[in-house]
Amino acid sequence: MRRLLVAGNWKMNASVAMTEHLLSAIRDAEIDTCDVAVFPPFPYLALAHSTIADAPIRLGAQTCSLEQSGAFTGEVAVSMLSEFQVALVLVGHSERRSLYGETDKIVLLKTLRVLEQGMTAVVCIGETLEERQAGNEREVVETQLRLLLDELSDQQWQSVVLAYEPVWAIGTGETATPEQAQAMHRYIRSLLQQRSADIANTTQILYGGSVKAANAAELFSQPDIDGGLVGGASLDANEFLGICRAK
Ligand code: PEP
Repeated sequence: MRRLLVAGNWKMNASVAMTEHLLSAIRDAEIDTCDVAVFPPFPYLALAHSTIADAPIRLGAQTCSLEQSGAFTGEVAVSMLSEFQVALVLVGHSERRSLYGETDKIVLLKTLRVLEQGMTAVVCIGETLEERQAGNEREVVETQLRLLLDELSDQQWQSVVLAYEPVWAIGTGETATPEQAQAMHRYIRSLLQQRSADIANTTQILYGGSVKAANAAELFSQPDIDGGLVGGASLDANEFLGICRAK
């Protein structure tokens, strides 16, 4: 049985006051309807960790370096993240792919770094509007997954969460319909099935793209949707908690 995970990707939005306010609200809500993770920007990880304290909220980072240490100005290594009890790292978010040149090869290498450090990689995949309009969405998603399917061991797959995020639904207010999302999640699970039934059955596949409290219940009730990666709505405590309580 796969557990439901609701993960808030704050992107480049935060302040000390916001971090304290948002995380104490989430902590005090004592959510038990799903697993909860938050991905604040790097400078707020230490504060986030101390605010969450012992609450069962998992801390995530929005990206990481390919490198382990050295002359890589501006980069942050996975070993540094783990010192702040970061348990998950987003890899291949569509903004990283489109704005910072994160290729499928880089996504594989970063995933391996995250796994080597004993953390979970939340790997994002998804097609653009043009790719969907051309009817290529399955091909695109399969290509984005191919290296991971070929290179990761069965054991490594146990520390991978996938997030299907159609690019046309990210930050646009336009959500994939539950049927569209379920169809793609089912397809992704069929690709995992080519590796093994166990990987297909156990890998969590989150949906991301304008998830809100108002649409979360229907999305999360789909059999192959195991939670949400939430951007904009994760910045508002009531909205985020509404999503966490949706199912
Ligand atoms: C995201 O950034 O991963 C995301 C899904 O954003 P939003 O919920 O704002 O569409």
